[in-house]
This record gives sequence, C-alpha cells and structure tokens, in this order.
Amino acid sequence: MNLDLKTHLSNIINDSIQNVIPISGGDISQAYKITTPQVNYFLKVNNAPDALTMFQTEAFSLQTIANTNTIKTPRVIVCDSFENSAFLIMEFITSKSPSSSDFKVLGAQLAQLHQCNSEYFGLDQDNFIGHLPQQNNTHKTWLDFYSYERLLPQLELAKEKNLLEDSECPTTACIKRQLQPLFENIKPSLLHGDLWSGNYIIATDGTPYLIDPAVYYGHNEVDIAMSKLFGGFDESFYEAYFSEYPIGEDTSARIEIYQLYYLLVHLNMFGRSYYSAVSSILKKYFT
Ligand code: ADP
Repeated sequence: MNLDLKTHLSNIINDSIQNVIPISGGDISQAYKITTPQVNYFLKVNNAPDALTMFQTEAFSLQTIANTNTIKTPRVIVCDSFENSAFLIMEFITSKSPSSSDFKVLGAQLAQLHQCNSEYFGLDQDNFIGHLPQQNNTHKTWLDFYSYERLLPQLELAKEKNLLEDSECPTTACIKRQLQPLFENIKPSLLHGDLWSGNYIIATDGTPYLIDPAVYYGHNEVDIAMSKLFGGFDESFYEAYFSEYPIGEDTSARIEIYQLYYLLVHLNMFGRSYYSAVSSILKKYFT
C-alpha cells in the first residue's frame, strides 16, 4: 500500500498503524488487515472510477442489516476516498471455521432478517452486485421487480457483451408469462442480496456476521437460492432457517430462476465459463 494512504488512514483512525497485511478471498477490491496497538481493522481499497459509490452502498447495506438487530455485520468506521483510491474501513472480525451449531444460529438469524418487511419490492437507492450496477427501482409486484430490475438488465448486458445471442434471450412478455404462476403471494423481505459462502464470517465466539451485502426488499428464497448455488452452507443452516420461516410451494423452479440472476451476473463479470449454466436454465423455463 502506498505510504501516503497509510499515513492518511493512520490520521483517520487516530492511531499508529503497526502492520498492513493483505487478505485474499475478495473478488473486487484489495483487502487488508490493519493492526494497531489497541484494535485491528479491516480495510478495502479500490481505484475503479465508481469505487467510492460502491463502498458507500456497501456501508449502507451493512448498516441497514445492523439496524434490524437480527444478525450482525462488521461496524463501519469510515468510507471515503484519498487521491485515486476509495477505501472502506470496518471492524475486523477474527474468524473460525463454522461448526454445525454456528450454522444453526446463522440460519435462524437470517430467517429473522427476512421477517423485516416493506410495502414495496426494491430499495430507495441502487447498489452493486459484484462490481456491476444493480438497480432497485421499487415495484408493487415481485413479478415486475424481478423481471425489470433483475433479469432484463442482465440479459441486456449479456447481449451487449456478445455473451448471449438475441435469439437466446426471452422477451419481456415471455418472462412475465412464464414467471407469473411461480410468483404468487410473495412478500417483500429484507435480503442480504449476495449470500454465497464467502459472504458470512463466524467469529471466534461463534457469532455469525454477514459481509458484502447488496440489500433490497425481495423474495426471501433469493438468498436461499444463492446460498445453494455454490454450496458452503451446512444442512443445519437450512433446518434452522426453515423451522423459523417455512418455505412456500414450487420452490425448486423458483430456486433455479433466482440462481439464473446470479449466473447471469457471473457470466457478465467473468465470461463464458458460466454460459452453459445460464443457457440451460433459459432453455428450461423460457422456450
Ligand atoms: P470483495 O468485496 O473484494 O469480494 P470481501 O468483502 O469478500 O471482498 O473480503 C475479502 C476477504 O476478507 C474475505 O475472505 C472475507 O472473509 C474477509 N473479510 C471481509 N470482511 C471482513 C471483516 N470485517 N473482518 C475480517 N475479515 C473480513
């Protein structure tokens, strides 16, 4: 890390920085553990043009979840920019590998988060999914929200990037016709929004923390679908979740439809290796 930034951060936290240790595991930004004589901090740095907005929306998402008092998130210390870099400093959580009972707490607390409701689907601000913009315009129906704010923008982007042909992408009318029967009686729940296994941490005392959220009000099964996409959640997580928040009917089709969004995002961020997974869900539900 450049020396000027280190001095700047030291002034902000009002303490002398002993070590700046790189942390691996992130897809988007450079991550570091900052040690001081008293406390440790977690730092993310990014010099992309929209990085400050990205960190501001992440800080907002972390705070929104923390405000529900259902599940913890690391406390945000500061989000700002210096010279060409944006940075986000938060509480450092020392982690351990999760036990089955830690997963149980995580599942129960996620179910409590999902019981925080709203009148509309969406959010009063846009955010990011990975490094891609994610729009959250509010809608009264989940069908409209999921069609216009989730699937259609990612399908459009995939076409622009020549990752999907026009003929492979369903029309708006087709999406709405096919999804309508699956999307009945759905209530807006506060979601983490990007709940894969890299986005929770179990602290050494067993407390679960959610990290890297992209919150909005949507169908609770979206977080469940993402948790199942790349694995990494123990069976006790699902048992605890479903005993607090019983699942609806026709779940397996919806789970695939919700995974389609994240697969499209991965296609648009990382390229062709996600094509066949995207294509097979598109063919299964929209032809
Ligand atoms: P990115 O946004 O670049 O994907 P992440 O937020 O996923 O970065 O963080 C990268 C790594 O740092 C992950 O392995 C994660 O477990 C760890 N991490 C994230 N937040 C904290 C924190 N507050 N305390 C300790 N480690 C963290």
